[in-house]
Amino acid sequence: MMPATLDLAAVEAMDAADPLRAIRDRFILPEGVIYLDGNSLGAAAPAVFDELRKAATQEWAQDLIRAWNTAGWFDMPVALGDQLGRLIGAAAGQTVVCDTTSINIYKVLHAALGMRPDRSVIVAEGDSFPTDLYMAEGVASTRPGTVLRLEGVDAPTIEELIDERVAVILVNHVNYKSGQLRDMAALTCKAHQVGALIVWDLCHTAGALPVELDSANADFAIGCTYKYLNGGPGAPAFIYAAERHHDKVQQPLSGWWGHARPFAFEQGYAAGSGIRRFLCGTQPVLSMRALKGALDIWDDVDMATVRKKSIALTDLFIQLVETRCGAYGLELESPRDGNQRGSQVSFLHPNGYQVMRALIERGVIGDFRAPSTIRFGFTPLYVGYADVWQAVEVLEDILRTGAWQDARFAVKTAVT
Ligand SMILES: *Cc1c(COP(=O)(O)O)cnc(C)c1O
Repeated sequence: MMPATLDLAAVEAMDAADPLRAIRDRFILPEGVIYLDGNSLGAAAPAVFDELRKAATQEWAQDLIRAWNTAGWFDMPVALGDQLGRLIGAAAGQTVVCDTTSINIYKVLHAALGMRPDRSVIVAEGDSFPTDLYMAEGVASTRPGTVLRLEGVDAPTIEELIDERVAVILVNHVNYKSGQLRDMAALTCKAHQVGALIVWDLCHTAGALPVELDSANADFAIGCTYKYLNGGPGAPAFIYAAERHHDKVQQPLSGWWGHARPFAFEQGYAAGSGIRRFLCGTQPVLSMRALKGALDIWDDVDMATVRKKSIALTDLFIQLVETRCGAYGLELESPRDGNQRGSQVSFLHPNGYQVMRALIERGVIGDFRAPSTIRFGFTPLYVGYADVWQAVEVLEDILRTGAWQDARFAVKTAVT
């Protein structure tokens, strides 16, 4: 509920009443920074450093090769997968942490295509995060005659592209740019009605809002752990595969870690049982350990509480921006209805890049997505209502004074 008068005191009262307030203290938030980019790289937590230190100084340094057994390194991809599974509505044994999101898209998309050998269409979204489409192109190139049909290019909506020719649909639960949320259960059902499989990209979902893969009857899902889950830069990604597919599915990157008996050193490939068959090679143990520290924080967090706060934060931001910055050419790109939105808010501005650079210089860190989106992520675990207030104060000042017009903000950096 939004308070009747919106001032700093009202916003501070919202923080005081926030059931997630104590969780914020488990993160490191630099002085003078308001961090609204947890949807690109989540904040660091001391618990993550503890795990990293243990993995490096005890397990690696002292236990050496023995640690694969004694420290549970070998089972970490599935153990972490189960821990993460709770946050995405996946019962144990169906989620594995490994590789990158891009690689995992390749594995599951190729696997799904292989399960529909008499069908030739992959459906995706024209405004998808580009790597999803690049990987889909790569998968399509492995089977002659496969075509990629895109929402926004080949038809206005994804639903119109779904028919009996479709082998697999690759779709984002939350659009990375606009934050638009899709109805997972409904679209999954529509896919299944025509015998197609569906792969859900949860990069902007996992840790941002609750999702129920099992009850939606999803086939596959993939996603990041370095965004809302706070696993650290380049933290390994994840794959979900519904148990009903495990025996049939063949993934193309048939490395020894997905083998039924990796340490038998047999000559031919034999896929392992269960979700392990989605593994390829040796996994980054230090990064996995860091992720363990980050996921442990989530063990004390209820996703429904996260969702409630996420909607309140983003509603507050939209309301404040529109009342205070309305005169400066910003246009809301995200859905206005909180139930249609992930945990981010995007505005369009013709000079969005410069505006974002000016914000970052003033300590308000969001990001820019070409051609003109300024994007703000609200991580309910560590962003408070007063942060939202302060961010809008700075944004208003930059727009009112025209501070963003300084020439140095027009020079592009490598990563935006
Ligand atoms: C962040 C993101 C990725 C990132 O893929 P990497 O392989 O980790 O670089 C992929 N897809 C979507 C939708 C994303 O938001």
